[in-house]
Amino acid sequence: MSDKLLVIGETRDGVLRNVTFEAIAAAKQINPDGEIVGVICGEESLKSQAQEMIYYGADRVVSVLNEKLKDYTSDGYGQAVLSVIEEESPYGIVMGHTAVGKDLTPKLAAKLETGLISDVTGIDVDGDEVVFTRPIYSGKAFEKKTITSGVVFATIRPNNIPALDHDDSRSGEVDEREVDIADLRTVIKEVIRKASEGVDLSEANVIIAGGRGVKSADGFKPLYELAEVLGGAVGASRGACDADYCDYSLQIGQTGKVVTPDLYIAVGISGAIQHLAGMSNSKVIVAINKDPEANIFNVADYGIVGDLFEVIPLLIEEVKKI
Ligand code: FAD
Repeated sequence: MSDKLLVIGETRDGVLRNVTFEAIAAAKQINPDGEIVGVICGEESLKSQAQEMIYYGADRVVSVLNEKLKDYTSDGYGQAVLSVIEEESPYGIVMGHTAVGKDLTPKLAAKLETGLISDVTGIDVDGDEVVFTRPIYSGKAFEKKTITSGVVFATIRPNNIPALDHDDSRSGEVDEREVDIADLRTVIKEVIRKASEGVDLSEANVIIAGGRGVKSADGFKPLYELAEVLGGAVGASRGACDADYCDYSLQIGQTGKVVTPDLYIAVGISGAIQHLAGMSNSKVIVAINKDPEANIFNVADYGIVGDLFEVIPLLIEEVKKI
């Protein structure tokens, strides 16, 4: 059996997303002695990014080039990645559990007639068996799963498996291949970004999330200020999005984004079960709420009972002193 593992890279604006490097670390956990082959798709040479995959642990990278790969489409990327999979015959395939990963990997798994374990948060290897841990029931429980036949295929939840250290003394081959892509059924005409620029919510190490308690779009301004001094991103509860205080792209929870930052500060959020589903696995949770009975305090590591409009400016002042 091949001991090769393929890691499908994901770029945004021509730059690899951090979750790609975490996926390389996950591949190393699956088989520390296996060959890690990165795959990167684009319309033009992405050699510097391919090189980054090598610095983070890939042994070599296949860079697939075609003008139809300028923007992500499952059709185009599916054809490109499948051609590499067929050529390399890997033992396992790993990708980030992002919007793109969630779209692309089930289609690839169906084509390969193999299983797919999605949203993996942990990996254990027991002899030849690779056991993946993933959350179920909105994060209230975890299940352990293994693939018993076919390619070992998994998507990795961002911010869970730390990337390996960047080592620019590592070297490896970057194989650039022009491939034929059949006519695409969908073509991206224009990309309109609604989310605020800055730190990507799903990969942020620090998130300041506001709820209905923030009371208005203007009320979010101090949260953005705190996010800036902490180098974090702003998120929101559905309550805040429904009230039009911010865009739905910021929503965290069961029907929003699932995040696992090092620090999650919940501001004026009551802690409904649907919100907890998206953030309860954060490493440190701080809750600011004027109601001492609010459910958010049940999952918080640190709680501040108080008016957010008094607490946030004090926090900003203190952080600025550091
Ligand atoms: P509230 O519950 O109204 O809480 C506001 C909080 O702010 C209160 O605890 C209050 O004490 C506090 N507060 C008020 N003023 C201040 C102040 N000045 N200082 C400090 N604290 C203050 N919700 C999500 O978040 N994400 C989801 O993905 C999601 N999906 C859902 C899916 C379904 C099918 C359903 C039915 C619901 C879903 N919800 C989701 C909605 C969820 O049930 C809650 O309604 C929502 O999370 C409440 O948002 P909130 O905590 O901001 O508002």
